[in-house]
Amino acid sequence: MAKDYYKVLGVPRNATKEEIKKSYRMLAHKFHPDKGGNEAQFKEINEAYQVLSDEKKRAQYDQFGQVFEGAAGQQHAGAGGFEWPGGIKFDFGEGGAGGRNFADFDLSDLFEDFFSGAGAGGRGGRARERKGKDIQMELEISFQESIFGAKKEIEFSKIGKCVHCGGTGGEPGAKMKTCPACQGKGNIQKTQRTFLGAFTQVATCPDCFGSGKKPEEVCRQCRGRGIKEMRERLEIYVPKGIRDGEVLKLTGKGEVSFAGSVPGDLFIKIRVLPHPVFRRQGDDIVMRLPIKLSQAILGDTMTLDTLDGTLKIKIPEGTQSGDVLKVRGKGAYAVSGYGRGDLLIETNVEIPKKLSRKTKETVEELKKEGF
Ligand SMILES: [Zn+2]
Ligand SMILES: [Zn+2]
Repeated sequence: MAKDYYKVLGVPRNATKEEIKKSYRMLAHKFHPDKGGNEAQFKEINEAYQVLSDEKKRAQYDQFGQVFEGAAGQQHAGAGGFEWPGGIKFDFGEGGAGGRNFADFDLSDLFEDFFSGAGAGGRGGRARERKGKDIQMELEISFQESIFGAKKEIEFSKIGKCVHCGGTGGEPGAKMKTCPACQGKGNIQKTQRTFLGAFTQVATCPDCFGSGKKPEEVCRQCRGRGIKEMRERLEIYVPKGIRDGEVLKLTGKGEVSFAGSVPGDLFIKIRVLPHPVFRRQGDDIVMRLPIKLSQAILGDTMTLDTLDGTLKIKIPEGTQSGDVLKVRGKGAYAVSGYGRGDLLIETNVEIPKKLSRKTKETVEELKKEGF
């Protein structure tokens, strides 16, 4: 469920560039954090403006309701910042290309959890506002799908809000009671004696996960955590014209760090499988066409199987090996919703290797004529 950027900026879907700019300026002024505005809202306004003020991105958004970003390796600054780890080969767990990167766990999160209670007074403090992790995955699509776009189903594992208890951690209908481990404080103090002296650490209560309350009957699915590892199935639209290495971003489809946290984003890197006949070159599609010597000399019409169905082409008289025949508008989409490049057919004149005696005599005749 992508955000409605038009609603965010309070403009109609057919708003002009000027209207969008005007509304953005007004809202950005109103919600600027320096002026006491809401930071999340401010970010959202900026995100919406970045898309709608860019003709290319706006067209993509209008068509697919999602924003996908440019070339491979491009950085996507989410709320927490995100960088595609260049050169790292992903080790998918279950589900092949649909899996997620299990090598991505970050030790710093453990430390943050451990110290999060310190000084925050009660309910977990800083870490409880933490955004969930982004998920990165790759998706293989056929060459044909990259040209015309496709609806694809993806499946992956993630930490999400427990559906059974809705994130409360209790069996549906269970009463809540004060956590006996922390007496409702949400954190516990541990005093450690070391040779440097005694010091006290405050940590999130592991029994109630910082909420200070425990259900009388703990959720059987998530054992009270409110979140759990789950399989998610999504239908996504791969826009036509997409190139190998481009990344789709699905905002809010990543993991949660606790039941009510802001979810991370899902980044899908597109891998276009090679085609035995066609390959992409910029916005054009290139193919090689073997033709006979007689066709090259005398010219001919041929029927070809292309991605757009069968196509009649004319081979002109005197075609050379390597000549390129151009079919306008049958190439790849430059960007979704915009025009297409051309189909370039590179001819290759096939010289016969075995000749009958009669053919050989005919060629001898040609030779006498200076061919
Ligand atoms: Zn507790
Ligand atoms: Zn649960």
